[in-house]
Amino acid sequence: MTRLLIVGPPGAGKGTQAARISERFGIPTISTGDIFRTNIADETELGKQVKAIVDAGDYVPDSLTNALVTDRLNEADADGGFLLDGYPRTPDQVQYLTDLLAQRGHTLDAVIRLVADQDEIVRRLRQRSLDQGRVDDSEEAIRHRQDVYIRETAPLIDMFREQGLLIEVDGLGAIDDVTTRIFDALDERGLRTAAA
Ligand code: ADP
Repeated sequence: MTRLLIVGPPGAGKGTQAARISERFGIPTISTGDIFRTNIADETELGKQVKAIVDAGDYVPDSLTNALVTDRLNEADADGGFLLDGYPRTPDQVQYLTDLLAQRGHTLDAVIRLVADQDEIVRRLRQRSLDQGRVDDSEEAIRHRQDVYIRETAPLIDMFREQGLLIEVDGLGAIDDVTTRIFDALDERGLRTAAA
């Protein structure tokens, strides 16, 4: 049973690494950004509600995001653990998640922080906008998302550090090397796969 978060600025490579961690631990990745994008693409009620916010690179209101995560964590595949990507992102979300887990007698095992410098991140996001055409990967929206991250989400890192949960991993270099760093760091904390 492994309960993990992955955090880092937009473009740090969270999604790519999350898929690999999920596979290794046999747990689902729950990405709030992906859930919002799917709902926007499918033009659901939720999608219509959040489209303008997400396209502009602002944060969806906590109440909406918290409710969405609660529903997702209630699905059966999250019983055996999970990796949250892109949540929690605000102090209110951290408190909400902490309480939600506590109600179930659960706690987080670790928070993986991918560290990457600004220049590399901007380069990656420009490339992603060419590859995937995400509306929020326009230059203006990228810059805005970076600012929002620094203002809202970066301060949460100190909190995770104080709680002794933080694992900091260099996110630069080859994708496989970053994955190895993450797996090694998780091993060191005694977080192994069921089989190991
Ligand atoms: P990135 O990490 O590149 O910003 P994400 O896919 O994680 O991309 O998120 C895309 C967008 O979805 C965010 O800019 C925001 O509008 C919305 N979003 C995702 N997660 C949250 C969250 N936890 N709280 C509020 N808004 C969120």
